[in-house]
Amino acid sequence: MKIKAAVTREKGKFSMEAAELAEPEAGEVLVRIVASGICHTDTAVVEQYLPVTFPMIAGHEGVGVVERTGLGVSELKAGDLVILTFPSCGVCDSCKAGRPYACDRNFELFFFGNYADGTKRVTGADGVEIGVMFGQGSFATHVVADQRNAIKVDLDGEEELAKLCSLGCGVQTGAGAVLNRMKPRPGSSIAVFGMGTVGLAAIMAAKIAGCSTIIAVHGRRGKELAAEFGATHTLNGRDGDVAAKIRAITGGKGVNCALECTGVPDTVGTMLDSMAKEGIAVLVSVTADTEVPIKLEPQIMNPSLTVAGAVEGCSNPKVFIPELVGLYKEGRLPVERLNTYYRFDEIERAFEDSHAGKTVKPILKFG
Ligand SMILES: [Zn+2]
Ligand SMILES: [Zn+2]
Repeated sequence: MKIKAAVTREKGKFSMEAAELAEPEAGEVLVRIVASGICHTDTAVVEQYLPVTFPMIAGHEGVGVVERTGLGVSELKAGDLVILTFPSCGVCDSCKAGRPYACDRNFELFFFGNYADGTKRVTGADGVEIGVMFGQGSFATHVVADQRNAIKVDLDGEEELAKLCSLGCGVQTGAGAVLNRMKPRPGSSIAVFGMGTVGLAAIMAAKIAGCSTIIAVHGRRGKELAAEFGATHTLNGRDGDVAAKIRAITGGKGVNCALECTGVPDTVGTMLDSMAKEGIAVLVSVTADTEVPIKLEPQIMNPSLTVAGAVEGCSNPKVFIPELVGLYKEGRLPVERLNTYYRFDEIERAFEDSHAGKTVKPILKFG
């Protein structure tokens, strides 16, 4: 079928094009995109900070309506509302164990543009195939996705669905890092570094988990939202000795849990210096180039610290995304407060506003 897509053919650019989308194959669904979030990983793809090949359709926080299903699709049918999320192979040891975030092929399936069978589904007007990010490529009017990364959700309609794009990646990453990776005991202390979508979702999750001291370390934005979502303390990350302030807040002990979501190397060191003994420090946004000087004995071994990584919130999305929808319905995960809405053809302005810090979570609306 004919679709309209924002195709990246050269670094940092989008071109609005008509393209041809193949029918869904076995185990796949055709989804009409209702809305798509924009996440920092889209920027990493479009700016080629990651080893991607163009042409590529970015976008990995799509939500929409199932229009057609391929052979053997049992859990989805036409008309279902779905939140699209990260892809996984379904057959490696991690996938079989219900831990698709640790799929053997996650990096390849996220960024190299192909579906798990090694093929593509979109062809440009010039006859050349176009890759898609995260097995979706949601900067397009329609996508084909595997049923594994199309999560059926129970919502009132498309308007409400459009509010929840970020559950597919950013919120799943932040909330999952807390609820699935740290699993703080009620009454724990936590520090979250960086108040974008991931950090703010972690603040909401820390409150849900019953943390009693929730410290938000913010930059130029996020202070007010963090306080509103449950932070008991807010600190400007550029203002003085942040680790010393966190120790002061926690009676000299440091925090039991911490999450680094700024991607700034120095912040990782600050986080390690802020930890209580036997704490857990989680990394979600370091890159291949992030290098940090760490003193292993005083910072990790002696305090018996756990330093952990977490991809996509260590989530099994078929289970976790419906749980997040439930928390949203109860008013405990007010992710819609992060959104600024744009029309699909305003995609460049949406990226500019995101880079300028004018919006936390830009959402492109289709149709
Ligand atoms: Zn796998
Ligand atoms: Zn993302």
